[in-house]
Amino acid sequence: MYLKRLEIQGFKTFAQKTVLEFKPVASGRRGVTAIVGPNGSGKSNAADAIRWVMGEQSLKLLRGKKSEDVIFSGSDKRSRSGFAEVTMVLENEGEDRTGLDLGEIAVTRRLYRDGQSEYEVNRQSARLQDVTLLLAQAGIGQRTYSVIGQGMIDHVLVSTPTERKEFFDEAFGLKSFQLKRQSALNKIDDSKKNLAQTESILNEIGPRLATLDRQVRRLAERETLQAELQALEFAYYGSEWIQIERGIVSATTRFDVARSEQVKLVEIANTLEAELAQMERATPRGDGFKELRVKLDALALEKSGLRERELSLETQKAVAAVRAEKPWSPLPLSKIIEAIESMRFAHEELMTELNQERLDIAKVRMFVEALHTLSVDLAGKLQRPAPEPGQNTVAIDPQIEAELKEIANAYTHLAERVMQANIELEGWNRGEDEKRSHIFKTQHELSQKRAEAQASERRAGDASVELARLETRRDGLLADLRLHAPELEGKLLEGGDRNVALEVLSADTSGKMQKLRSQLEWIGGIDPETIKEHGETKERFEFLSKQVEDLRAGIQALDLVVDELDATIRTRSATAFTKLNYEFSSYFKKLFDGGDASLVEIQSEPELDEDGTVLWEPEAGEVAGVDIQATPPGKRFKNISLLSGGERALTSIALICAIMATNPSPFVVLDEVDAALDESNSRKYAEIIGTLADKTQFVVVTHNRATMMQASVLYGVTMGDDGVSQLLSVDFADVEKLRRS
Ligand code: ATP
Repeated sequence: MYLKRLEIQGFKTFAQKTVLEFKPVASGRRGVTAIVGPNGSGKSNAADAIRWVMGEQSLKLLRGKKSEDVIFSGSDKRSRSGFAEVTMVLENEGEDRTGLDLGEIAVTRRLYRDGQSEYEVNRQSARLQDVTLLLAQAGIGQRTYSVIGQGMIDHVLVSTPTERKEFFDEAFGLKSFQLKRQSALNKIDDSKKNLAQTESILNEIGPRLATLDRQVRRLAERETLQAELQALEFAYYGSEWIQIERGIVSATTRFDVARSEQVKLVEIANTLEAELAQMERATPRGDGFKELRVKLDALALEKSGLRERELSLETQKAVAAVRAEKPWSPLPLSKIIEAIESMRFAHEELMTELNQERLDIAKVRMFVEALHTLSVDLAGKLQRPAPEPGQNTVAIDPQIEAELKEIANAYTHLAERVMQANIELEGWNRGEDEKRSHIFKTQHELSQKRAEAQASERRAGDASVELARLETRRDGLLADLRLHAPELEGKLLEGGDRNVALEVLSADTSGKMQKLRSQLEWIGGIDPETIKEHGETKERFEFLSKQVEDLRAGIQALDLVVDELDATIRTRSATAFTKLNYEFSSYFKKLFDGGDASLVEIQSEPELDEDGTVLWEPEAGEVAGVDIQATPPGKRFKNISLLSGGERALTSIALICAIMATNPSPFVVLDEVDAALDESNSRKYAEIIGTLADKTQFVVVTHNRATMMQASVLYGVTMGDDGVSQLLSVDFADVEKLRRS
């Protein structure tokens, strides 16, 4: 890397655009460019331009009082500029220390009169810190020795040990590491602040989230219980409803059937009753029977009359017989047997009749009657014996005989009539029996129908009671349903899902439902907003937790970076310091032709309070600052404050050269560093610059001829009466060629 070009416009005396081209001398030598010219022509302004474009903020170093002092202020002949702009172009080919992989790096700084300031890198807007880091990475120190101005030569000598340490660190190329370290520390600081804020928010949110978590868990539990309860309620009420409905349908059907049966049976019973009344009203029983009884009584009377007459005639006849003394024989046994046989026959007939299923009263009466007649007849005959057969009969009064015959005929006729009357009576009785039997049957049927009607009525009554009971149960169920699960009412009333999962029901379903309801009541209601709030709070908590995690990881990583940078800085610093010390001693001896000089590190001391308590403890080997000891030849002191002006300048040059030898910067601007040197020392200085120009590009502002002799390109700066610097370049190679031709 080397300084390729400098473009200045509106900066101090460079009012018009001025371009300074720099180029490395051939064979790898970086060479020396000299800027020469009369006092006040603007040479140092060119060096200031380099310092300024590199981001210098010190007004003192820029030799101004206000920032806009760098803008061309105008002259009698030329109006002032509106802005100052400087562009420094670095050739980055070959050894790219920046890692930006840019062939050319153009850094621009621009300042307007209104104070607006801009930086650009390759015409892209940039921040000062970007420019600072870029230059540090390129090994170009900003405030130190890259641009060493007039009066700054012994700056390093007069500065404090701590400032010196900073100066050396920058010179050792540690600046970029320190910037990175500082940037890491800043980030750690920011991250820690963020972390503290985030943790404090988390601490606030945490308890709220825990409460919301609990509420949401309860809500989830509530939903589970509610679902369980709803399933049970659906099954329970559904099943109950179906059972009741089925019961109602069944009871209604039973009621209807029983009622219609009852109506029919009552109708039948009424019909039967009417029939019965009709039967009972028809032909009063007494009339026919009375007539027949009168008839039979009359016949009996007639018979007893005949009997009386017969007895009388018989008596008359017997009297006549007695009178005729005719013997009377007792009734022959055969006649008695015959009579008894007849009685037995009549008796058997009577018994047979009595044993009949349907009793024929007339017949019975007839056989009794017959039995009575036969027995009376036999008894009469046994009491009044007949004349013995074969004996001489007494002549019977024919009139008595005729009358007896008549009586016998009358008997026969009477018996026929009695028989006829009995047959009539028998027929009447049979008719009466049939009627009575029909009445009995009808009465039986009637009472049966009445009983059946009553049974139907009872069944209808039972069904009606069952219906009322079921309706009460249904009302109770509905009331219960409306109280506990009103949402199911529509479903059930509309017919709902008939496929109720009855298998989930158990004997204790009602108890289970009650238990679930109690649990739900215990859990209580939850505001639906809670879920929303929980979601948001959780998301925020997780986001912040992740942020905390990321911040902690970031801090840890940055701590590691800081540790690594610390180690790098310590190692490089130690190595560079040893070399610097060596180089400083050699350049000192070279410039002073002897003597001795060295750099001494001052270790950091622990920080104590008034009581001697340690407030801060440095790390082992931590360097707080650097002291310079210089003893010119023949002198004894070591303290640099005792050096003369020239000695101070030489010591400073020795130190600057040592730095350049230790860590060559791509380029260094030396603004009249040699001003205080005598001719001999100027020569030595020029020689050293010439040697160092192998590795460092030098831009020297000088009035010194020996120094000018080291330059390959020479810029002459002049100033006209318009107060504007003019540039004239002389390439010594061209001059040499010209001189030889
Ligand atoms: P010397 O050899 O004496 O050191 P020099 O060539 O280095 O001189 P400079 O210091 O570069 O001269 O220039 C100083 C001149 O620049 C002064 O005359 C000063 O008035 C002028 N100058 C400084 N700032 C401005 C500005 N903003 N506008 C116009 N002129 C300015």
